[in-house]
Amino acid sequence: MSTIHLQQLVKRFGPFTALKTMDLTIADGEFVALLGPSGCGKSTTMNMIAGMERPSEGRILFDGRDMAGVPMGRRGVGFVFQNYAIFTHLTVGQNLAYGLRATRRPVDEVNRRVSAMADLLQLTTMLDRPSAGLSVNILQRVAIGRSAVMEPSIFLLDEPLSNVDAAFRTVMRTELKALQRQFRQTMVYVTHDQLEAMTMADRIAVMDHGVLQQVGTPLEIYNDPDNLFVARFIGSPGMNLLQGQPVETATGLALDLGPLGQTPPLSAPQVAALRQAKADVVYGFRPELVALVPEGQGMAMPITFVERIGARTILHLGQGSASAKVVLENDAGLQTGQILHFAPLAHAVRLFEAASGIALKGA
Ligand code: ATP
Repeated sequence: MSTIHLQQLVKRFGPFTALKTMDLTIADGEFVALLGPSGCGKSTTMNMIAGMERPSEGRILFDGRDMAGVPMGRRGVGFVFQNYAIFTHLTVGQNLAYGLRATRRPVDEVNRRVSAMADLLQLTTMLDRPSAGLSVNILQRVAIGRSAVMEPSIFLLDEPLSNVDAAFRTVMRTELKALQRQFRQTMVYVTHDQLEAMTMADRIAVMDHGVLQQVGTPLEIYNDPDNLFVARFIGSPGMNLLQGQPVETATGLALDLGPLGQTPPLSAPQVAALRQAKADVVYGFRPELVALVPEGQGMAMPITFVERIGARTILHLGQGSASAKVVLENDAGLQTGQILHFAPLAHAVRLFEAASGIALKGA
């Protein structure tokens, strides 16, 4: 069991700063996903936790102990990479047992732990199979098992599912979560796939351009993004963001969205948040959290494209430079060119300061 503290962590490569002053505490037994687009500094952060890269500034503590100068092999971490690294001249069972044998565990213990891990990862029928020639899916499962069987108190996984196929990824998400529940390891998981982060992590650390943008539970991040980057990045499609200006109306304070007209009446907390804003505001709403309303109520935008994806339909809306998406369970035969009359659900509307991109959460 281990707590990880990242304190004022910075990483520079020559003149380039890959990670800008990161503070993050990962609790004992917690599953934290580092999520962000390519190049945002996820792997760099992970490599420093593992001991493969040295921080330029700041400290990494495991259970309060400074890891500066402690090599990877002495940190008690398990590490699984995007590309499985297993011994192809060994069988699946020999691969799983490799670390335990290398540390001279008693044969009984090796057999018991390998068998339990094979059970958990559905590898039991493959224990005697040579690893050479097995599919990428299975090889990555073996790589995860080989590291997990050592029961490291800290388990680091860097995009472990990015090379496996989609169906297998779904299965592995469940298995990895089960693995973590069983061994109660502190798990740090690097991914650019928000679905993986949302489904597995206790908390998500969203990163962009070397900056930690927000840390929170998956629902906190989805419901209450701290800034425009997180609002856009989380959700599929991301949050709709329309720029407007505060305006007094007969029914109270609202936003003037230019050619799109005024927003529906804002709730009291939103009005309170809006009153803090000194300049332009961005009106945010989730594509899936809207209601269709009669003409003349709510907002109206022409449908520019209808994207039917089975159970759901994504309506692309556009008017001038403004665009938005609305996701419906049942599209009722809507067609490109029609005007959609809709109102974002009041409780799900979020406001941001346009200039800084920071959420107005003062309500
Ligand atoms: P990806 O998923 O694409 O690996 P990432 O979020 O993990 O993205 P990092 O690998 O941490 O990103 O890289 C962060 C930035 O630091 C990138 O711009 C990358 O080019 C740069 N970088 C990483 N390692 C080095 C290095 N050894 N030397 C110079 N620049 C590096």
